[in-house]
Amino acid sequence: MTSVPKIKLSSGYEMPQVGFGLWKVDTNCADAVYNAVKAGYRLFDGACDYGNEKQCGEGIARAIKDGLVKREELFIVSKLWQTYHDKENVEPITRRQLADWQVDYFDLFLIHFPVALEYVDPEVRYPPGWHYDGVKEIRWSKATNQETWGAMEDLVEKGLARSIGISNFQSQTIYDLLKYAKIRPATLQVELHPYHQQTNLVRLAKAEGIALTCYSSFGPAGFVELNMDRATSASPLMGHEVIKGIAEKLGKTPAQVLLRWSTQRGLSVIPKSTDPALMAENLQCCTFEIPEEDMERIAKLDLNLKFNQPTNYFDTEKLWIFA
Ligand code: NAD
Repeated sequence: MTSVPKIKLSSGYEMPQVGFGLWKVDTNCADAVYNAVKAGYRLFDGACDYGNEKQCGEGIARAIKDGLVKREELFIVSKLWQTYHDKENVEPITRRQLADWQVDYFDLFLIHFPVALEYVDPEVRYPPGWHYDGVKEIRWSKATNQETWGAMEDLVEKGLARSIGISNFQSQTIYDLLKYAKIRPATLQVELHPYHQQTNLVRLAKAEGIALTCYSSFGPAGFVELNMDRATSASPLMGHEVIKGIAEKLGKTPAQVLLRWSTQRGLSVIPKSTDPALMAENLQCCTFEIPEEDMERIAKLDLNLKFNQPTNYFDTEKLWIFA
């Protein structure tokens, strides 16, 4: 079985450098998770918002019961959704998410986005999504990132999360968080691929000792699944002549080159595929080297083209959170 390198986090724990992305894993999710464990994945990247944590938990429970893996060999990641940022809501929702996963701690729990929205009772709608009424209305909460981070730190204190981190934060919110954090964020998870390279954010994370996880490593591919205009009109990264040329030269696939471009620089990746052959292929993205001159050719492909932002999913004048 492929051995995946591990990244040492500031929390002292080690995190596999390649994991399994769970967003949009809707059909046969429990089987996909079970098969991913079988294929050798140990890190699972979930979230309340993906709406499949119960099925993920079923897959994990089955894998453990069948003796494929032990809980302590897994690295389970989940995320706090925006409607639970007020401090009194953080622990209850984390406990519900843990129950869905059938585990008693998360290896890593992230603030999904640095935006606080008004509470939606999980008994009324779960997952709640961005809109207060489930359709159109955006309602802010007054919770600050400082308040939410304090509640995340309490999760560590109570043993509900071993490491805590952030997602979709940019430099200004990170510098601010580092002023009040008693526990520093172990990881930063952001969109990162050759069309959206975020070079200075990578430098910031490195300088501050925050491990960086890249999401949507294949660029538009993950958003074409959602029929997002910006993604369907972009040239596929896996078909890009530079990526294809490097893949051919190295006897690898374009997907492996895209993942290796990040892992070779010490970043982590969480590709999503439920196809067993592609799952196996993605896991083997740390077993070869891309020559420096080819890394530099990929570095020239940046278009500052970001796919994952609320304003690309629905009309609103209220959520320009990456402006
Ligand atoms: P991705 O970049 O992993 O791309 C997925 C698409 O690529 C799918 O269509 C899949 O079939 C295809 N694919 C996968 N492996 C392939 C291969 N080897 N060859 C050819 N095609 C292949 O997409 P993603 O789902 O956007 O991102 C991955 C994960 O990152 C998510 O599942 C989720 O866990 C995480 N994520 C987090 C956030 C966040 O806000 N924190 C946002 C987006 C994604």
